[in-house]
Amino acid sequence: MVRNLFSLYPDNFISSEAVMSDASLIKATIDLNAKGHHSGYLTAPCPNNESAWGVIKIPITSIKNGDGPTLLLTAGVHGDEYEGPVVLSQLAQLLSHQHIRGQIIIIPTLNPNASLAATRLSPIDHLDMNRSFPGNAHGSITNKITHFVSTELLPKVEYVIDFHSGGRSLEFLPVIIMHDLENNEQREKTFSALKNFGGQFGLILEEIDCVGMFDTYCETNGKIFLTTELSGGCNVNVDSVKTAKSGLRRFLLGVESLTNHDALKEWKSIEEVKTQIFEVPNQRFYLHAEHHGVFEPLVKLGEDVEVNQTIGFMHNLSRVNHDSIPLKSDAKGIIIAKRALAQSVPGDCLFVIGKNYECD
Ligand SMILES: [Zn+2]
Repeated sequence: MVRNLFSLYPDNFISSEAVMSDASLIKATIDLNAKGHHSGYLTAPCPNNESAWGVIKIPITSIKNGDGPTLLLTAGVHGDEYEGPVVLSQLAQLLSHQHIRGQIIIIPTLNPNASLAATRLSPIDHLDMNRSFPGNAHGSITNKITHFVSTELLPKVEYVIDFHSGGRSLEFLPVIIMHDLENNEQREKTFSALKNFGGQFGLILEEIDCVGMFDTYCETNGKIFLTTELSGGCNVNVDSVKTAKSGLRRFLLGVESLTNHDALKEWKSIEEVKTQIFEVPNQRFYLHAEHHGVFEPLVKLGEDVEVNQTIGFMHNLSRVNHDSIPLKSDAKGIIIAKRALAQSVPGDCLFVIGKNYECD
């Protein structure tokens, strides 16, 4: 009965087969297999009370020129992180297909409604996009988008860089990040990609919750995957934008995707620095709040800390006769990230500490 009903509609309507199958309902307005530079949108059906038959339009650029490395560059998975979107939207404008070989697919704001709302989670379905992979063709909007990325874009590429920042609640040193992978060959390739991207700080990170992450889905599907944390606090940081631009330029040259050295020459960093690599090997390197209160950090990003050092206080401002609670470091290393907001509740991440990574 459903089939008969849908068969009344012309071809540009979603077919009954699409509804029955796992095919994505998101469509690209550009041909992702075409040679040249093409910019358009992914259109994702998302009607609401103010917009019957409405869609979400996600800007996308594909730059393709013959054989060569294939890359997917994404940002704006979390809507309160802006350095990545700024850098990738400029990249899409600056690069011509004559500057590259292979293919670069660029999506500067994968979660546009969250970016407009300046929120980490989607304001539509309240999901965290970076915990919603591989998605579902017929799920809520976040799941529809992640499903499209998983099924339609990832099979086309070898490399993925997903740009993040600390968002509203965290501030980071600008770091390029990989995970400690079990597959040796993939680990070596990813580590060399990380060194190739370079910048002042690299990080090998143990995630608190890797299930549903874009990172994990890419890695388990054999991709060479890197991510970043570029400052935070919901703004656009000058140094982080420079780090992202110079690192991306080095990366594209290193994998021989970018063949024209003049194309992004204004992104070249004035002084090349040796990358200091740190690791966050386990949960001891995260310090989470145990009490409600106002968080006072005593150390800055990049500062060295020792085990048992008091690195902050949690103050209860409603009870002046009550001692403030010292926050002790459980690990030796440097401050990679700290909470950007003062008001805190139990469970908030206050510090992330990085340990010097011994290269073998
Ligand atoms: Zn993020």
